[in-house]
Amino acid sequence: MAEQRIDLRSDTVTLPTQAMRDAMYSCEVGDDVIGEDPTINRLEQESARRLGKEAALFVPSGTFGNQCAIATHVGSADEVIVSEAAHIIQHEAGAGALLARAQMRTIPPRSGSMLTAGDIEPRIRIGDDYHCPKTSLICLEQATAYGELYPIEEMRRIHQLAASHGIPVHVDGARLFNASVALGVEAAAIAAHCDSICFCLSKGLCAPVGSVLVGTGRFIARARRVRKLMGGGMRQAGFLAAAGLVALDNMVERLAEDHENARALAAEIARIPGVTVTNDIQISMVFFRIDQDRYSEAQLHARMKERGLLTYPPENGQWRFVTHHGVTRQDVLRAAQLLADSLR
Ligand SMILES: *Cc1c(COP(=O)(O)O)cnc(C)c1O
Repeated sequence: MAEQRIDLRSDTVTLPTQAMRDAMYSCEVGDDVIGEDPTINRLEQESARRLGKEAALFVPSGTFGNQCAIATHVGSADEVIVSEAAHIIQHEAGAGALLARAQMRTIPPRSGSMLTAGDIEPRIRIGDDYHCPKTSLICLEQATAYGELYPIEEMRRIHQLAASHGIPVHVDGARLFNASVALGVEAAAIAAHCDSICFCLSKGLCAPVGSVLVGTGRFIARARRVRKLMGGGMRQAGFLAAAGLVALDNMVERLAEDHENARALAAEIARIPGVTVTNDIQISMVFFRIDQDRYSEAQLHARMKERGLLTYPPENGQWRFVTHHGVTRQDVLRAAQLLADSLR
């Protein structure tokens, strides 16, 4: 009999908990586009409070939140400084060019996917030479799409540098709460070092849909207009916010368990001949290479799938496993076994 499959593709495959389903069933809703959904209003207030900012806006996805933020911060043909490896560049379908009509100034990181203040400073355009685009925004990720964490000190340096030039900083915090749990700081201690930040409710926090964009009252009022323009005004969206509130209440601290499981998984697969773990495990992500000549990447991917081990195909030879609420310690140990079996 086939055992249950183990899905390590992403923390986006997580399913809403029973508490979320119950909250969705019984929540009060209204028309959010005219500000009358009490559950949305509660989620926005709670998000702003937790992050120590003035206001928040519920948006359909992390991509939506980032792109809404960029389009709100910058004018057409302005320049946005961002790491070449950022989700905003690699995985948002080029939206910055379309919606903000911005020039995305991508910078290759010296290692990993993060930029330092030292990388950013020489790229900030000084003066108002009309030949040059205007630097209008700096974007960072916390945690990054590669599971790295910005030291709070580096965020502070970047934010200070940006502020000294009157440039806002936006943080793509799709996995903000993974970062806060892993760094052992409140989410507000991260949000303190940026002007706007967006986090996902639908990844490790297990809500079915949605992200929240957070910033000053003035910024969020302007972002609300951009959200409408982008088609993100969703009427009785409180059904989604109800699950989001449960996510914030119940699902944040348990992310530590996913991080522990990722470390256990990394330790286990590192013992398999030919497998090299390539990242320092800080959150729920394990990256690794497989050195072998027997199977093509596609064959290996299929062999894992046949054994009930789901992962995305590798990118540039890098495989990735992501732990989450649907994966137990026992599952990660079995996943390592299934990987070893697939290589035989
Ligand atoms: C997942 C993710 C997003 C947003 O993704 P959506 O699927 O649009 O919600 C943004 N940034 C990073 C780093 C991510 O991992």
